[in-house]
Amino acid sequence: MILALESSCDETAVAIFNPAHGLVGEWVHSQIALHEAYGGVVPDLASREHLSHIGPLLQQALASVPAGTISKIAVTNGPGLAACLAMGLSAAKSLGLAWHVPVTGVNHLRAHAFSPFITLHAANPTTFDAEFTRLLPHLGLLVSGGNTALFSLDVPRRIRPLASTLDDAAGEALDKGAKLLGLGYPGGPQVEQLAATGNAAAFAFPKAVARRASLEFSFSGLKTSLRYQLEKMAPAEIERRRADLCASYQCAVFEALVRKSKLALEGGGYRSFGLSGGVANNMTLQGELTIMTKAQGVTFLRAQPQHTGDNAGMIAFAAWAERETGGVNEAGLALEIAPSLPLAVT
Ligand code: AMP
Ligand code: MG
Repeated sequence: MILALESSCDETAVAIFNPAHGLVGEWVHSQIALHEAYGGVVPDLASREHLSHIGPLLQQALASVPAGTISKIAVTNGPGLAACLAMGLSAAKSLGLAWHVPVTGVNHLRAHAFSPFITLHAANPTTFDAEFTRLLPHLGLLVSGGNTALFSLDVPRRIRPLASTLDDAAGEALDKGAKLLGLGYPGGPQVEQLAATGNAAAFAFPKAVARRASLEFSFSGLKTSLRYQLEKMAPAEIERRRADLCASYQCAVFEALVRKSKLALEGGGYRSFGLSGGVANNMTLQGELTIMTKAQGVTFLRAQPQHTGDNAGMIAFAAWAERETGGVNEAGLALEIAPSLPLAVT
């Protein structure tokens, strides 16, 4: 069984994965409430919070399996906040040393890339390898607070980045837009909630695309156009039209995601499309991608809500799924933090 630890940003998480059955359990402590007052993650507070929660979470997790059954420890070694990553690494190394069990470093972004396949494994662990191979080549869209990436995953489980964002990440664009609209942090879920009763065609925001034919994303112009729009409106009008503003703004963000994904799928010979990261929780985005992938004739896989944000379940799963691909770091006790680790080398 694999014990996984995740502490790259504002979630302290532990998971235990049994390759023959799936995830045995997942334990998370979210720091959202702590950082809310500051409108974003405060690194020093975050690392202290990891320090106070990682012990109790490990205690709970380890109480659920017989002693001596952990044969590998997986830990996020990047990308993320240095002081936060260090907390997970030192806990993982201590356990590895005490138990004489190998410690493997997992790339958080690659773990997101594999997260849409967790349910496929859980449905039938014995046929996973064959089913997984049948779904390749795969196009992935990773949309989170810090990343926006389109990448391909092909037969030898190799990840090739195809596009990223020139400025803000998709989740960041939603969070910044929400802030301009006077909503709390994180903004994505609040924008979704308000957008549900709004009219997406009420305001014509520019579609967040860099160049039409390019796969790259760009969201900063969209955010600026929301600011200009709000400057033209009286506070009472903004209040009255907040749902329409949310729906139109969210629509522009998703238009870019769907359009670029479609562009990448066309002629790419892909068999499946995967959606991962925090923004994957959005039901409007899920709906639009369901329609688009159906029209393109590819299987749509998405990470489940417990695996979209930061979580250790995907770290454990990636440690297993990447065991023979070179995508994980086997440095063991010499493992170092890699705050700017990329999804893959281009
Ligand atoms: P992550 O960076 O993966 O932890 O995800 C956090 C990001 O996902 C933040 O930018 C959130 O605003 C965004 N997010 C979470 N839930 C939703 C949702 N339902 N709709 C849109 N964005 C969301
Ligand atoms: Mg998070």
